[in-house]
Amino acid sequence: MKLSALRGNERVKEQLSQQERGRGLSHAYILSGPEGSGRHTLARLLSAGMLCTSQGEKPCGQCPACGKVLRGVHPDVSLITGSGAGKTITVDQVRALRSDAYIRPNEGQRKVYLLENADQMNPSAQNAMLKLLEEGPRYAAFLLIANNAGGLLETVRSRCEELPLFPAGRPAEDEDGRERAAQVKRMADALERAGELELLEESMRFAAKRSGEEFSLLLDSLEVELGTRIAQARDRRRLLRAVELVKELREAVRRNVNANQLSGWLCAGMFTAL
Ligand SMILES: [Zn+2]
Repeated sequence: MKLSALRGNERVKEQLSQQERGRGLSHAYILSGPEGSGRHTLARLLSAGMLCTSQGEKPCGQCPACGKVLRGVHPDVSLITGSGAGKTITVDQVRALRSDAYIRPNEGQRKVYLLENADQMNPSAQNAMLKLLEEGPRYAAFLLIANNAGGLLETVRSRCEELPLFPAGRPAEDEDGRERAAQVKRMADALERAGELELLEESMRFAAKRSGEEFSLLLDSLEVELGTRIAQARDRRRLLRAVELVKELREAVRRNVNANQLSGWLCAGMFTAL
């Protein structure tokens, strides 16, 4: 996905791009974070991505659908805001949304609902929302904007994907990114020139205690890193083999093979072929 208009938040961008390439975007997201973290920017980009009619990377920002979403006038994107002092969405508003959701889209393939202050909804409004998340029409997508995802019922959260956002340049996020970049570099070094034992140790560190999703993000970065090294590599054949293995590894992660079992396999793959 083309999400460069969102500042920082690399992790969420990677998560969404990968999802789009893989099983496709989800029908419900919680965009959580403080003001200034880019929740509305991302909500707009996601809505545009869902309605974009371009064949290339989405949202293209050029097609009529993208234009309408970005100007806030697309008939298939609705922004639901609460009224009153707390600006809380009421159960009646959710019911109205529910009937609206069953009317087919006007011009796009999907209908997108943005819910402001979703974490402020009271339990009955959230329960009404829950029904919609569970049984709503396939074309409907819901973007729940929240300060704190913890304010939503567990049942609602479990039916949405969470996109935690941070104001750009937040140290923890930068540090996270730096640490990951360093790990990828160490792993690429090991693949490029380490001996068998050293490579095994490094790949065990690389795979240790990670979720499948985190691991495949790392593998993506690793593949890019290896790709940039091939041109100047001393042992080009070895690097090409590494790239091939990383690709296979990614497939294995997709099939839910445990990340920790993969380090031994990676080593064996490198050294039996060379
Ligand atoms: Zn477009």
